[in-house]
Amino acid sequence: MPMTIQSFHPPVRTLMGPGPSDINPRVLAAMSRPIIGHLDPAFVGMMDQMKDLLQYAFQTCNALTLPVSAPGSAGMETCFVNLVEPGDTVVVCINGVFGMRMKENVERCGGTPVVVECDWGRPVDPQQLEDTLKAHPEARLVAFVHAETSTGACSDVKTLTQVAHAHDCLVIVDTVTGLGGCELRVDDWGVDAIYSGTQKCLSCTPGLAPVSFSEAAVARIKARKHPVQSWFMDLNLVMGYWGPNAKRAYHHTAPINALYALHEALVLLQEEGLENAWARHRHHHEALKAGLEAMGLNLLVDEAHRLPQLNAVKVPDGVDEARVRGLLLERYGLEIGAGLGPLAGKIWRIGLMGFGCNRKNVQLCLHALEAVLLEMNAPIEGGHALPAASRIYAG
Ligand SMILES: *Cc1c(COP(=O)(O)O)cnc(C)c1O
Repeated sequence: MPMTIQSFHPPVRTLMGPGPSDINPRVLAAMSRPIIGHLDPAFVGMMDQMKDLLQYAFQTCNALTLPVSAPGSAGMETCFVNLVEPGDTVVVCINGVFGMRMKENVERCGGTPVVVECDWGRPVDPQQLEDTLKAHPEARLVAFVHAETSTGACSDVKTLTQVAHAHDCLVIVDTVTGLGGCELRVDDWGVDAIYSGTQKCLSCTPGLAPVSFSEAAVARIKARKHPVQSWFMDLNLVMGYWGPNAKRAYHHTAPINALYALHEALVLLQEEGLENAWARHRHHHEALKAGLEAMGLNLLVDEAHRLPQLNAVKVPDGVDEARVRGLLLERYGLEIGAGLGPLAGKIWRIGLMGFGCNRKNVQLCLHALEAVLLEMNAPIEGGHALPAASRIYAG
């Protein structure tokens, strides 16, 4: 049979789901630059800058700060396989999908998870954590999600970390959706181990996982009694390539062009200023929220704990939420996300992440959602959403 398959050209979309988010053209351009060797002195110079840029994004001086060569889930796994030893008790706070994955990671490392169960759509409750730690003095580690992408809830990293430290536990924090989108201060808040992803508020290509480890976390890893079960993610080995004062010895072939992209995405973040990026996410979230509420739609998470970058919107009664998403994609090239787990069919997830967090996208989303819902005779008010958003932009 003759092969007739041709080049793949993806359709043009606007990505306003839970990630990936739209990529700045400067990042795509960086990715297409010529490949060089992953041990080339020029590449090694770029790696040094990458560490500085990641330290800025995380607001940390942690020497062990690097991008794991795999998606956010591998960042999660890197933290767990290195910090959990067989027999360890780990308190895992679950208020959405990603906390559930943390629990599974603990089990697969031979640890014993003790779960702090919180309502989906609510932040993790520090009092519940405190009570659990009192009941489990043997616990060595606490894990929780900063920005729960499955619900849009933001947990108080600083307070949860204080509670954990008061009980002699280190913390592992998931900030895959938090990094670059809302306030995060790794050193000021005392976080021990943290992982992120590149395709959410950093607006880079998927497939890399920035991570950072405090001195206390590094000491714990170095003092392990059992070897890390994963060869690829064993930081004792990875440190020879990425670590502080590393010989840059071959460990695996770094995803060179993807790292050019992350470097550029982080340069963009530095140019904008981290706090300005946080404020921009907040500002466009306010406009989107005003428009959605003017339409008669409601957000899942209460105001004090909402993530600006991930807006969980309740689906009105009787509306076929999958058809709404289908029409948005077909007519407007607009992608928004569905609910997961117990929230499947009950919410949409509208992302305002990184490069995609802008006025044009807010207005497109409000217009398109209103038009589709009116066509489907959904119980919403037409004509108010865009003016409400404009009032926010007018100040
Ligand atoms: C997206 C996400 C992940 C997983 O990241 P991948 O890059 O898809 O592996 C983990 N945690 C949270 C909170 C996320 O939003």
